[in-house]
Amino acid sequence: MDPGELFQSYGIRNWAAVPVNRIRAPAGRHPCDVMSSARSLVIFGRPIPKESFGKPSLQKTDELYDEAKAIDSIATELAASLREEGYPSAPVPAFFPMRIRNGTPKGRLSLKHCAADAGLGSIGFNTLLIAPGAGNRLALGAVLTGKEIEHNPEPPGAGKCTWCMRCADACPSHAIDERGVNVLACMNVREAVPAILRQSFTWLITREAAAPFLEFVINRLMGRIMMPCSACVVACPFFEGDG
Ligand code: SF4
Ligand code: SF4
Repeated sequence: MDPGELFQSYGIRNWAAVPVNRIRAPAGRHPCDVMSSARSLVIFGRPIPKESFGKPSLQKTDELYDEAKAIDSIATELAASLREEGYPSAPVPAFFPMRIRNGTPKGRLSLKHCAADAGLGSIGFNTLLIAPGAGNRLALGAVLTGKEIEHNPEPPGAGKCTWCMRCADACPSHAIDERGVNVLACMNVREAVPAILRQSFTWLITREAAAPFLEFVINRLMGRIMMPCSACVVACPFFEGDG
């Protein structure tokens, strides 16, 4: 199946397919580390409705997870159709399973950085992707495949982070600075860890030997957490959808 036809059927306009060697991920988090036979990365996104971000935490979280699930399902469908053509192919989950690297929980691949490398947009100060036309609300999915596919979107428009610092100023946890986002300070991550465990969690996460245990805990706990905060998303001028 032509990925473009599949994406069109789901109303997806933001997508790209690039050779995996165009992705500048660090060792251990490169597409080739996930799938050694991968030749191309197909990456796509669909804007999360901005109304979702104004809803109470529980409803917002449900809608964000629903969109992530829908995106994962589209990636699964594309991978299955590419496998039917005879190419090894696999969807890349949006969030989970997570791994601990350098004291920080990270996804298997950073889809937003892959999207930027593939030409879908650029990374803002708050480390979110800013995509032309879709702003900073794209829910991302990806497929790794042994098939050579290339689709280069129109070059990104002028919309790039202006360093206005509204995201950093809006963060109730002061988690955003020039080093990026301190994931462990972010409310959404902190809320995932029961208060009684937080201190030991913060200590353990810096211990390499504890990584397998913590990965197990994170992947069990974070699959069910609420996302009470999206202040850095909403405060950004690109939230409205330009980019
Ligand atoms: S989600 Fe909230 S707490 Fe986390 S970095 Fe953004 S503004 Fe800060
Ligand atoms: S709020 Fe301003 S500094 Fe932060 S990502 Fe958006 S444009 Fe960049």
